[in-house]
Amino acid sequence: MGEKNTTMEKIVSLCKRRGFIYQSSEIYGGLAGSWDYGPLGVALKNNIRDFWWKEMTQHYDNIVGLDSAILMHPKVWEASGHINNFTDPLVDCKHCKARFRADQIDLEAACPNCGTKDSFTEPRNFNLMFSTNIGSIEQEGSKIYLRPETAQGIYVDFRNVVQSSRVKVPFGIAQVGKSFRNEITTKSFIFRSVEFEQMEMQFFVKPGTDDKWFAYWKEQRLNSYHNMGIKPTSLRWHKHGDDELAFYAKEAYDIQFLFPMGWQELEGIHNRTDYDLTQHQKFSKKDLTYLDQESGERFVPYVVETSAGLTRNVLMALSDAYEEEEIGENDIRTVLRFHPKIAPVTVAVLPLVKKDGLGEVAQKLEKDLREEFVTFYDQSGAIGRRYRRMDEIGTPYCLTVDYQSLEDNTVTLRFRDSMEQIRVKIDDIVATLKKATKEYKRVE
Ligand code: ATP
Repeated sequence: MGEKNTTMEKIVSLCKRRGFIYQSSEIYGGLAGSWDYGPLGVALKNNIRDFWWKEMTQHYDNIVGLDSAILMHPKVWEASGHINNFTDPLVDCKHCKARFRADQIDLEAACPNCGTKDSFTEPRNFNLMFSTNIGSIEQEGSKIYLRPETAQGIYVDFRNVVQSSRVKVPFGIAQVGKSFRNEITTKSFIFRSVEFEQMEMQFFVKPGTDDKWFAYWKEQRLNSYHNMGIKPTSLRWHKHGDDELAFYAKEAYDIQFLFPMGWQELEGIHNRTDYDLTQHQKFSKKDLTYLDQESGERFVPYVVETSAGLTRNVLMALSDAYEEEEIGENDIRTVLRFHPKIAPVTVAVLPLVKKDGLGEVAQKLEKDLREEFVTFYDQSGAIGRRYRRMDEIGTPYCLTVDYQSLEDNTVTLRFRDSMEQIRVKIDDIVATLKKATKEYKRVE
């Protein structure tokens, strides 16, 4: 097994051991492609979501937020083309009944699961949308779908947003939420799951200005990952060739990340033209044009979409952060080098020993810091072991209260990445940690 797969196994095991991610319904044997985010996992996921949300809705002056429903009118999916086109080609092995995506395996070769040759069925199209029924009786017209992307909620509310807020084209609508896809193959941990979260932003522009905005958003989105502290060398562009381009798209690029299993899509930037709004206009028979007050022109806006997987971002953050570092003879420490902005715990407060009043001072300090940071208090075990536990969950700062603290109101601040230790006055802690977070640079 290659080095990279070994890393994935280690990440999966760390996630379970330390409470980042568990298999869903594990005590019943699990459900394929479904995952639960434990105490640290949900904190990491929320931090990534908040980082994105803040960037989108606060840093730019022309993007507003939305939280649309997961269950929508079934006509939405007819209009969007999902009912007819949101399919993957599926083949079954006649021998072992394993299922594969025909575009992901060599159909001439033996079944990757059981090794039987010439055992595949003919590829057939398989719709990835989960369906269910609304109301108490299953009847004609009661069939609805779990949304496979959040974007359609944005298009369907386009008119509401324009009429109820003061946005003017060009402007964006951002949304974070769950999406569901009945994926044929759900491997690589949380990379491809049946229930996942997306962070999508649809930017509405005047036709003719779409190429310019497409280039703008490409640049902004890559920069955003740099700002999140992700190694630039682990990110690259992939341009969609004619064979990959969605039928409605004019241009599409993926940001790929070097996951433990190789380069894979993390986020898509798509020029979706006026396809979606035009379709919804046709199917709903409602006017979805935009009136430019200044020029008096009326048009259906073009859309530049940035579509990222939040749960896939969590896997990126874990893979990017995971390191095993040799720090002495036969001494390897496991460390998650999260940017302090997304680390599940920002600062741990540790009394050197719990007796002689050190425990009380440390507990008070930890409580005082709660307003500003996500804190963690730990007084059990040798200090070195406690540091290692914090390294393993990616806590960037540890504060240790020792005997000197009782005399001069200072504590030791230990930095996760460099393991450097400095003395800081208790009164200066908040400012020192905020500055360190602002100036944080990933060590390579
Ligand atoms: P693929 O071709 O790999 O199935 P896609 O190109 O259809 O994916 P998009 O529809 O562009 O993916 O979705 C946008 C983003 O949503 C992806 O970049 C990814 O981060 C995330 N995403 C899509 N499907 C899944 C999934 N099954 N599990 C986790 N994240 C997903």
